[in-house]
Amino acid sequence: MDRGAESEREGEGSGSPSSVEVHRLEFGVDWPPWHAAAFLVEADEPLLVDAGVPGATGDEELRDGLAAHDRTPEEVAHVLLTHPHSDHIGQVPTLREAGAAVHTARMTRERLSRDPEDLAAGVRETGEGAGLPPEELDEHVERALSSLERNRRLMPPDEIDHAFTYGESFEAGGLTFEPVHTPGHQEGHACFELALPEGTALFSGDVLVEPFRSAALNVGLDRGAYDAIDDFYAAYDRLDAREADWVYPGHGHPFTVYRKVLANSREALDDLLADVRGAVADVGPASPLDVTRARVDRLDHPAPLLDTLGALGTLDRLGDVTFEWDGGVRRYRTI
Ligand SMILES: [Zn+2]
Repeated sequence: MDRGAESEREGEGSGSPSSVEVHRLEFGVDWPPWHAAAFLVEADEPLLVDAGVPGATGDEELRDGLAAHDRTPEEVAHVLLTHPHSDHIGQVPTLREAGAAVHTARMTRERLSRDPEDLAAGVRETGEGAGLPPEELDEHVERALSSLERNRRLMPPDEIDHAFTYGESFEAGGLTFEPVHTPGHQEGHACFELALPEGTALFSGDVLVEPFRSAALNVGLDRGAYDAIDDFYAAYDRLDAREADWVYPGHGHPFTVYRKVLANSREALDDLLADVRGAVADVGPASPLDVTRARVDRLDHPAPLLDTLGALGTLDRLGDVTFEWDGGVRRYRTI
């Protein structure tokens, strides 16, 4: 996204597990790297990890992608979802209708059950403190409400068959998956670890991707926005304590260089902190919005602002920056 990582793919092609087939299904999206991936796992009962983009195009891409491996949506018995972003849960309705059981984190089900009025209040409160002017605040509230509504339409909370708890493995299609809580990009985000006799496969969603660092969207512009980067580091700490031989990410290509991508991802967070600290030093005392403007040219997506809020929260806890309230707005300066 804001940083290109190295795109070396050591072992690609040769590096696949032998005891289970994993096939990548690709869906087009409007932003780099222009696709999102889902994975067909040929377990005792075929299953999918993630479910592509919504709408008729996504439906066609799903059917074509499955057909390339002689499968139909009716044959997919389970769908495991890393996180509730539309490019990962888009075809849940088709798969549910075709009979698949839906597995997602309990935290994700709770997020989808969020009271819209409370969400609107949270966005307003966080946005005001960040220095957003009233008209932009309204846009952010609208955006948050419509994305909640869309996600609920794609994945109604009461139609989730299995809301898993972190720390507990579960069985799907004859395989045992261990969900790893990996917030930062999205607060309930799951990576799925699959231990095989010949090694470990990890379905990493948007947390560990090779071409870029995913934005710290975590809770969105809601209460808790200042925790996003701390959460991201915690996710990488958890992954650091594990090993993976094959990684299947939600964007970019599968890779085997687990340690390297993990190190690059962590470095990208360190770079973000340095960038935000530098911007505060340049323009502070300044609101989070002004700090964001000082470090990026375009602000037509909330991602850079959310990255800033998360970074400011971490820098504040590290004692690098502090803020004072000024007419309901946080003004940050370096220490
Ligand atoms: Zn995502």
